Amino acid sequence: MSFSSLSPFVNEHYRDFSLLEHRAAMDAALAQVRSELGREYPLRIGGSTETSPGKLLSHNPSCTSELVGIHQKASAEQANRAVESAFAYFPTWSAVTPQHRAALLFRAAEILKERKSEFNAWMILESGKNWAEAEADTAEAIDFCDYYARQMLRMAKPEELVQMPGEYSKIEYLGLGVGIIIPPWNFPLAIMAGMTVAALVSGNTVVIKPSSETPTIAAKFMEVLLAAGFPAESFQFIPGSGAAVGDLLVTHPKTRFISFTGSKAVGLRIVELAAKTQPGQRWIKRVVAEMGGKDAIVVDAEAAALDAAAQGVVAAAFGFQGQKCSACSRAIVDASIYDEFLLKLKARAEQLTIGSAQRIENFMGPVISERAERGILDYIEIGKAEGRLITGGGKTQGDGYYIAPTIFADIEASDRIFQEEIFGPVLSVTKARDFDHALQLANDSEYGLTGAVYTANKEKIERAKREFFVGNLYINRKCTGAMVGAHPFGGFNMSGTDSKAGGPDYLLQFLQAKSIAEKL
Ligand code: NAD
Repeated sequence: MSFSSLSPFVNEHYRDFSLLEHRAAMDAALAQVRSELGREYPLRIGGSTETSPGKLLSHNPSCTSELVGIHQKASAEQANRAVESAFAYFPTWSAVTPQHRAALLFRAAEILKERKSEFNAWMILESGKNWAEAEADTAEAIDFCDYYARQMLRMAKPEELVQMPGEYSKIEYLGLGVGIIIPPWNFPLAIMAGMTVAALVSGNTVVIKPSSETPTIAAKFMEVLLAAGFPAESFQFIPGSGAAVGDLLVTHPKTRFISFTGSKAVGLRIVELAAKTQPGQRWIKRVVAEMGGKDAIVVDAEAAALDAAAQGVVAAAFGFQGQKCSACSRAIVDASIYDEFLLKLKARAEQLTIGSAQRIENFMGPVISERAERGILDYIEIGKAEGRLITGGGKTQGDGYYIAPTIFADIEASDRIFQEEIFGPVLSVTKARDFDHALQLANDSEYGLTGAVYTANKEKIERAKREFFVGNLYINRKCTGAMVGAHPFGGFNMSGTDSKAGGPDYLLQFLQAKSIAEKL
């Protein structure tokens, strides 16, 4: 198998759930997954499964009394052993050819395709994603597997070097060693799987510490890796509290790199801890840290279609309850259309259906946890003091963590809800005097993840391309929904290390290049 012999990469398609056959497949998967709720899942260390006295319970945020899975809380001793086991297996795994590793990953993509409805159902029940968001998450996980398998094949045959007379020179890409994989809960399959397989296919062994909010989805993905043929020793699976075992994993002298996606606070802590060399450590640890966002959509006076802009802002602000790093949390609107646009936003937000994620008619489900709900409600109170509440502003009925889509107008750049990541269904709207002011407001953030501009003016589009300082910029479309291969993803400034997941450079984070020159 070689990169050049492959057919072009194509993103996995999304099914249309208005069609009866697709709906029936999802209903069946939901019934099947429901019958499996409440089961217990093991830790995986050194090729064996084991339990731990401490347990971690995962619940359905749409129906908080419903237990989704029981997981082990890895102890410090188990976390330590996980790193040692991954270290011991690294020489074996890194000696497997890139072609074979890629073949296993293509197989993992196939298995995910076969189990697409099932994974959607797990996400609906464990993370509160609606059907369409769950379908997109599973499709993205399939894309990551397929795309990174291809990229590994490409890296296995790098470009020819300049040849000196009487010598043959080449460059090879090798795995680094043990990688600690620390994903968030908000793309519980796609990001967790993408971070894991990128490291594995590059020849590294990994220790996966899944998010405590969505460990069942991660445990199910471990089954996929095994079924695809990845050796059980190549990946260790240790759910548990990030705060309890996180420092140990990050500071372990045999840890070679940490691949983290999550909040700024935890990411910066990892960067700091990993920078300190430990006794016995023989390398400088690499940290890939993809962190938060405070993403802005600029709606210019010359936006061609205000309705399309309002639709884009509402979809990006309230899709998956605003719990995307790419979510629009700041709308920056030109003064000349401000009042009209606010009315459009309000009308659209008030049409959104909210309730159990299991019901297909609901656009918004619950937020992930009681803690998240409390934090978001606190920010809503801050918003009430800082701005003008346009719609929403609190909880809605139901025994899940439901929060109404909330919009605040007249927010200033100095306001907390303009600057701080809320990670919930809260949108602030700020008035811009003109396009210069709008760009200035958009860039007035410590983050720099995604952003969008709606305007029909070509010059303004070119200015946004030059001046809007974000890792992922979108013109005349919403700022969420990055596609693998098309929109390599990662942010500037405090949004992270800009590793560009789903892009051609991503695997370089997990590889080191060896240059070899041989006298002929
Ligand atoms: P989080 O930082 O709370 O947790 C992320 C992971 O870190 C979890 O697995 C958690 O258990 C673990 N963790 C917690 N404390 C730790 C510690 N002390 N040491 C090591 N690990 C620890 O974030 P979250 O709530 O899971 O996710 C939401 C955040 O993720 C938001 O800020 C969002 O913007 C960000 N995010 C960023 C991207 C991106 O690509 N930039 C993508 C998705 C989410």
